[in-house]
Amino acid sequence: MTKIPFHYQIVAGIFGGVIFGFLFPDFVFLAKPFGVIFLKLLKLMVVPLIFVSLVDGITRVGSAEKLSVLGIRTTVFYLATNGLAVITSLILVNLIRPGDGVKIFGDKSEAIQTVGGMPDLIPQNFFQALAKGDTLQIIFVAILFGVGLVALKEKGKRLAELFSDLNEWILVLVGFMMKLAPLGVFGLLAGMVQAFDWQAVIGVGKFVLTLLLGLLIHGGITLPLFFKTFSTRPLKKFISDMEPALFTSFSTSSSAATLPVTMDCIEKRAKISKDIAGFVLPVGATVNMDGTAMYEATACLFMAQALGIDLSLGQQLLVFFTAALAAIGAAAIPSAGLVTLAMVLTAVHLPLEGIGFLLAIDRPLDMSRTVVNVWGDMVACAVVEGLEKKEKKDA
Ligand code: ASP
Repeated sequence: MTKIPFHYQIVAGIFGGVIFGFLFPDFVFLAKPFGVIFLKLLKLMVVPLIFVSLVDGITRVGSAEKLSVLGIRTTVFYLATNGLAVITSLILVNLIRPGDGVKIFGDKSEAIQTVGGMPDLIPQNFFQALAKGDTLQIIFVAILFGVGLVALKEKGKRLAELFSDLNEWILVLVGFMMKLAPLGVFGLLAGMVQAFDWQAVIGVGKFVLTLLLGLLIHGGITLPLFFKTFSTRPLKKFISDMEPALFTSFSTSSSAATLPVTMDCIEKRAKISKDIAGFVLPVGATVNMDGTAMYEATACLFMAQALGIDLSLGQQLLVFFTAALAAIGAAAIPSAGLVTLAMVLTAVHLPLEGIGFLLAIDRPLDMSRTVVNVWGDMVACAVVEGLEKKEKKDA
């Protein structure tokens, strides 16, 4: 019997879940546990994977000089694509004006209180950071440990090898878990379809379409242009290598939960080197969220339009900066972007009540923006790899 390729199995899981959720809402409770187990297993891997892969990645890069080049390239790529993403959304939302005449401030509103303060980068206690799963703090400690290990030179070799083995070990476990992916996404999608208020989404269809169009332009044109410019890899093959992670991000709405799969696709399927993947991906999953940035900008202007408020160019510039920042600050979990939206709305003095409404329709939007978030991290790996190759050729 010929085996169905893995990414088709996942697509079948996604469609199967949607159809099942629509046709048999009363039986969705049977499908849901598969989704819950799959998600829990992935989440189980996230904290050790971020820590171990970053320390391993940094020790592989091996010198302070190379490390700063890698760091600068990654940061510039992340900031540039993030900025372009927000600009795309601002242009679209000004052209389409999805908020005109829409009434969203009804009884449904429930103010969201939690506006994240400044991130607390340095943990008081490392084990607490691990236990809380505070990814920014874990990244901070991992970079510190990695740099320390590099400074140890020969003496640090054994420990560095241990981290490399640990990384392999985690990825093997992720491989086992991925076998569950088709069933897992089936359960997640069935649960999503059953629980969702579709009427509400249709009511703000223009807003949804504006956001999706922006995501499509960024994910389908802007990021591929970066890829084509800097990487020598064939794009089609790269996309097909990345499919399991892209589908997982869509189904889980979480860049963090997808990270183990992203790592697997980049290292095992595309065979991009571990020193790049180990640095670019954990950092990217935590801070690089182009899709979320687009969501923040679109939603903010949409709300202003719905309230009949015209934001000046200066105010839109403020939206640009706060949307980019809010995306960096958003946790890589479902609906995190909605919470940090409060920051953007506050910056331009818009009421926070509309967030309650957006919460009701968030899930499919979150699924879509998370795909672009993860796709951005993957393209970053290919771009950084392309730059390194070019540098070696020129040398
Ligand atoms: N769910 C998104 C992610 O994990 C964050 C967000 O936009 O809510 O990438």
